[in-house]
Amino acid sequence: MRLILLGPPGSGKGTQAQRLVQRHGIVQLSTGDMLRAAVAAQTPIGLKAKDIMAAGGLVPDEVVVGIIADRIEQPDAHNGFILDGFPRTVPQAEALDALLKQKQMKLDAVIELRVNEGVLLERVERRAAETRARGEAVRADDTPEVLTKRLASYRDQTEPLIHYYSDHRMLATVDGMMPIEEVTEEIGRILAAVGKGGASRSAKKAAAAKRSANAPAKSANKAAKKAAKAAAPGKKAGKAAKKATKTVTKAAKTAPKKASKAAGKAPKAVGRASKAGGRVAKAAAKAAKGTRKTSAKSAKKRATR
Ligand code: ADP
Repeated sequence: MRLILLGPPGSGKGTQAQRLVQRHGIVQLSTGDMLRAAVAAQTPIGLKAKDIMAAGGLVPDEVVVGIIADRIEQPDAHNGFILDGFPRTVPQAEALDALLKQKQMKLDAVIELRVNEGVLLERVERRAAETRARGEAVRADDTPEVLTKRLASYRDQTEPLIHYYSDHRMLATVDGMMPIEEVTEEIGRILAAVGKGGASRSAKKAAAAKRSANAPAKSANKAAKKAAKAAAPGKKAGKAAKKATKTVTKAAKTAPKKASKAAGKAPKAVGRASKAGGRVAKAAAKAAKGTRKTSAKSAKKRATR
């Protein structure tokens, strides 16, 4: 899933992006965060961006387009991404279109969080106070004066994107004044409408891996039971039991392989969903191991009877 979140500073893009990351196993690509990291690391981009950001202006288009072009290529973005803070100007949106076309990727939705300007100052001040309370450094641009400038940049340069994307029939608007949970639900409904509302593909693959791991183990169990039941005392029984043991062992052996193969197919580096895949594969392997032991044991027991 590939998504853009649009909205002024303090509209809740970051909060909603984090929730979407958890639900869909995709990455949040925030140009603001990336630029702040570049400033902190004093990279050439950071040195260029530092004063512009502190004053509430916009970093040159080519700089942020370059950052995003590199970032969406990274393996952890293969499963999808949420762009937060990008694009911020029409030329950035056009550059993004060209980039996605070149990479044969498609955007699924552009979601605008609409809020009354009156609450933004309050929200940004609250965010600054919470950051301070955690003992962390407050953003240089989270002051009332700079916020006014950031809002002006938003109005002049970013708001035209609302028309850009509604002309492209990509835009959905959500009332960002609702409680966080309701905003999340509304976004969920929009994604469902564009066919992206369910769990991510990797989460689905992990579930399928679990199913395929269980299936051979189950049928192996059945085969063992059947063979043991049919086996008469004597030579025949020994043979049947041996056969059953073989079937069980083989099925149990392939189960974890199948599971981890399927789970391995799911994108690796992506957040929670792939972690869940790993957990499922592990659990499946453990379960199959258990089946192998117990089935082989019971078949042997029966053979010696
Ligand atoms: P906000 O909370 O105001 O939306 P961000 O954390 O997204 O802020 O960005 C902080 C600052 O980083 C912006 O005010 C701007 O200077 C710079 N910046 C972030 N993304 C972009 C972009 N796409 N284009 C230009 N400048 C950007």
